[in-house]
Amino acid sequence: MTNSAPASFSSLQLCDPILKAITALGYKTPTPIQQKAIPVILSGKDIIATAQTGTGKTASFVLPILEMFNQGRKLRGKRIRALIITPTRELAVQIETQVAALCQYLQPGLDNNSDSSIKLTSPLTSLAVYGGVDTQAQKERLIEGVDILVATPGRLLDLTHQRALHFDELEVLVIDEADRMVDMGFIDDVDKIVERLPKNRQNLLFSATMNDYVYSLANRFSDAKGAEDATEITVKANTKQAPSIKQWLITVDKDTKSALLSHLIKAQNWDQALIFIEKKHGAAKLASQLEKRGIKAEAFHGDRSQAMREKILADFKSGELKYLVATGVAARGIDIGQLSRVVNYDLPFKPEEYIHRIGRTGRAGNTGEAISFVAMGDFKNLCAIESRLNHIIERKEIAEFPVRKTVPISILNYVPKNKAKRPN
Ligand code: AMP
Repeated sequence: MTNSAPASFSSLQLCDPILKAITALGYKTPTPIQQKAIPVILSGKDIIATAQTGTGKTASFVLPILEMFNQGRKLRGKRIRALIITPTRELAVQIETQVAALCQYLQPGLDNNSDSSIKLTSPLTSLAVYGGVDTQAQKERLIEGVDILVATPGRLLDLTHQRALHFDELEVLVIDEADRMVDMGFIDDVDKIVERLPKNRQNLLFSATMNDYVYSLANRFSDAKGAEDATEITVKANTKQAPSIKQWLITVDKDTKSALLSHLIKAQNWDQALIFIEKKHGAAKLASQLEKRGIKAEAFHGDRSQAMREKILADFKSGELKYLVATGVAARGIDIGQLSRVVNYDLPFKPEEYIHRIGRTGRAGNTGEAISFVAMGDFKNLCAIESRLNHIIERKEIAEFPVRKTVPISILNYVPKNKAKRPN
């Protein structure tokens, strides 16, 4: 089946100006995801594609969108034709840069000096919008309408609420890195946006990994469209393995958690850790307790200024800061590519939150570690999480920290007694 796929860009039915841009970028042959996705997208079908960053997935949706839009159509003010939703600002910028590069010969102003064999069609416009910068310039760019808008979910919702753009002329929706969108807690925002889109549109969903959340998101798209099933496309990254996260828990008494954490950081020589804690003041307190024990850590929560949070994140990403204590809510927007370890200093209440948190590590074939501190009062939460995972989390004992209040040994699908006894 794969052998029958075309192996050259020219057989993918892309117009000359697009082929010229592909050559200018140095792409020689289409990658597997491009070979599989481009013909399906050009046929107007929805797709659900499993492909990691580095497989050429961006061009696999950008190229057919440009080809479909190449016929040209006048946009009304504040309207967009394609919407690409992506989890991070960096990705939004990268994607928009690729869009601009791939449609460079479709833009006006080049007809005087470019190859006369290239027919120029109508100009296509693109724009990236994301948070952390002023909205005004983005609003102004939207006034005339934009063919291809690349956006992070929060800023897109803000702009929508401010009526800076309207979706009634939208033709194509791309959800990029859907699994990361789930990990980063953006799915509610994405849902709110999808609700506002016209039902008659093409849906293209890309994810590095597939899981129930991603499928449920894809299903919600199809429901909205009321159309036949999307085509599923999978390609494997050539060098990378499936993500691998080692999960384990340590039972602990509440009052010794901070000493236990310091002990682990030192005894196991941790290179890095994102430490999740329930409360803001708890985060500040823990960071200062770690500092007192000679471990440089920062607290990351909603009460810190935006500038401070940006600085802390940049230091954490560069490796200058090794230990970050974050509240679950503040940490939602944190995106660190290669995180080796997360610690649930406080176990989250919802299994979904646990899954989001541990998904921060073990990305793109790297191994990662997720360590949870479990006190007696967390037992029910632990059982709910294990039921959701469908396996028991391995327990480790730390000899220096024997527990006084033991946590029962969990069994899978444990039902609290009061519920189990209820008559039918
Ligand atoms: P992506 O998976 O979309 O993040 O793309 C990874 C990198 O591959 C980007 O730098 C693209 O510019 C590049 N790329 C995309 N398609 C091709 C291709 N067919 N041949 C060579 N490089 C490509």
